[in-house]
Amino acid sequence: MPAKRKTAVVEDKRFLDHRGPAGHPERPERISAVGAALDARGAALGRFAPRAATPDEILRVHSREHLEQVAEASQRAPALLDADTYVSARSLEVALLAAGGTTELALRVARGELDSGLAAVRPPGHHAESDRAMGFCLFNNVAIAARALQEQESVDRIMILDWDVHHGNGTQHFFESDPSVLYASTHQFPFYPGTGAVGEIGVGRGEGSTFNVPLPAGCGDHEYVGVLERLVAPAAQSFRPEMILISCGFDAHRDDPLAAMNVTREGFRDMAAIVRALAEDLCGGRIVFVLEGGYAVSGLRDGANAVLDVMLGEDPPKLPKSEPVLSDTVLDAVVEQVASTHSL
Ligand SMILES: [Zn+2]
Repeated sequence: MPAKRKTAVVEDKRFLDHRGPAGHPERPERISAVGAALDARGAALGRFAPRAATPDEILRVHSREHLEQVAEASQRAPALLDADTYVSARSLEVALLAAGGTTELALRVARGELDSGLAAVRPPGHHAESDRAMGFCLFNNVAIAARALQEQESVDRIMILDWDVHHGNGTQHFFESDPSVLYASTHQFPFYPGTGAVGEIGVGRGEGSTFNVPLPAGCGDHEYVGVLERLVAPAAQSFRPEMILISCGFDAHRDDPLAAMNVTREGFRDMAAIVRALAEDLCGGRIVFVLEGGYAVSGLRDGANAVLDVMLGEDPPKLPKSEPVLSDTVLDAVVEQVASTHSL
């Protein structure tokens, strides 16, 4: 019998087949950059190919009209579903693999077949709303996986930490009335898509289970690590998730062309180590990283390597970190505002 793999990635060459207009930042080379980081790990890392999400899995989160719209747009491709969200001839197939691959990985971790994993998928998902594509996203991969965990594996309490540099409006909206899912996000603000203010804390029974940490442009390793240690960790400890999903964009990287943050590989490694320690402490180590954005090849490579180092327990030589950007007083004020909003 083959040795049991404790950490695995979902990856597939078919993720190259979602192809947009020339010059579009959400391009196939993104997944090639992540793939190069995976290939360097050799046999230490388990791998499996994605399956397509089933209609039932998609329809727990999205309307039937939305699913039909993506299918119809693929048939008449090339097409645009909003100003910057394209559909090519094979985009329906690829997007179903992204959602299904993420879901299957999460289910395997929930069943104890794996301890942790990384879904190296595209297109990203966290901007996709129930009834529409948005911001390069067709289906909301992480939300579909979270609902599958609840419905198929009785994982009741799930934390989604979204450290993509953009706010995950779609994910927030799916779960804002639902106290069983803690949606926490760090993001550049004000910035696309415009949502994610501190005061957006959830709706009705879900009040308190939406946790937004908007950050000014320029933040780097020091600020992100500070926010994770001082705000995200206590929020997680208070919520007590049974499983943690990371909406793992790498567009807060210093090289990213779309955003203005300053995180390095070392910063992403510290961030991944913090969330892994939380998972060990709170939920038996069960954690799944799901690729969202990240538009610099160097940023995707650094981010993927950082997450892999932590998941595989490797301790490579330390690299330079970015200098602190916010004064301690400004960072303290951000932390205090969010902490007081949530009574931490
Ligand atoms: Zn992003």
